[in-house]
Amino acid sequence: MDQYAFADPRTRYPRISPPVQQQEEPGLQQEMTPVPDLGEHGYRGTGRLTGRRALITGADSGIGAAVAIAFAREGADVTMSYLPEEEDDAAQIAALVEAAGRSVTRVPGDLTDPAYCRTLVDTAVHAMGGLDAVVNIAGKQRWVERLEDLDDALFEETYRTNVFAAFHVIKAAVPHLPPGSTIVNTASAEAYQPAPDRIDYASTKAAVNNLSKGLAQQLVERGIRVNVVAPGPTWTALQPSGGVDPETLPDFGASEAPIGRAAQPVEQAPAYVFLTSAESSFVVGATLNVNGGMPSP
Ligand code: NAD
Ligand code: MG
Repeated sequence: MDQYAFADPRTRYPRISPPVQQQEEPGLQQEMTPVPDLGEHGYRGTGRLTGRRALITGADSGIGAAVAIAFAREGADVTMSYLPEEEDDAAQIAALVEAAGRSVTRVPGDLTDPAYCRTLVDTAVHAMGGLDAVVNIAGKQRWVERLEDLDDALFEETYRTNVFAAFHVIKAAVPHLPPGSTIVNTASAEAYQPAPDRIDYASTKAAVNNLSKGLAQQLVERGIRVNVVAPGPTWTALQPSGGVDPETLPDFGASEAPIGRAAQPVEQAPAYVFLTSAESSFVVGATLNVNGGMPSP
């Protein structure tokens, strides 16, 4: 069954109830129970990104990994960014990109370092012979119940990862992007409905929306489109590695989203494909909410 098969969205993917589990940040996807569905067996490409050259951050796991697989199957070459300790997850995704017949370049590093952001872009341009799609998916989320326990350093690191890194990557990439290129950033349903135990994270996601809408107006004058995907609850390594209270995992997504379940990463990928493909040529500065029905502006 591929993503085009007619199905009831409530049961198209299983209603998971993950057992209580905890990993060290950033977590390894292959050690999760259950393992997320990245579309390895279900995503069918139809040539929507033929010949494109994409840089994807957070491409080792979760939503970024599903996007890397989808982009490759749609015909794009891929440069993957992720943290060095995620090499095992990244290797699996790189193999799937290659199996789709596309080139893959792995550039592990820390996006909170602006110098890495610039090296990442330079390496992508060199390896793929150019760059025309930038997809910022890397993100940091750590739940902290009380303000007094939210370290100053953590607050800053969340902003550096979720907002500053996108700025540095985009700033380095823009001189290389020909007209027709696209940038897709990643917000969250938390941008509109902040959970009380992740005030740093939720506010970065509001910033991503706003930054993208301003930048979209500036860059469309050069033929570059900027848009955003705002996922709702999605089963990824972010959750069991400090993103949410592990005791809440058995209910993950079930009560927040009207659809009654969490998403699988494979369900986020088509939004990124659409916003990167030339078919969305008149979509500029938009946020595509992929959240199972949570009200959004
Ligand atoms: P994930 O843990 O699988 O992916 C996040 C990735 O971010 C990691 O794999 C890691 O490679 C990367 N990353 C984190 N810090 C980094 C750093 N300093 N340098 C380089 N890379 C770094 O989790 P995911 O849920 O797929 O997250 C992808 C994006 O989706 C994030 O921006 C997240 O905020 C957003 N999001 C997720 C959900 C959800 O429910 N999972 C909901 C809304 C938004
Ligand atoms: Mg990861």
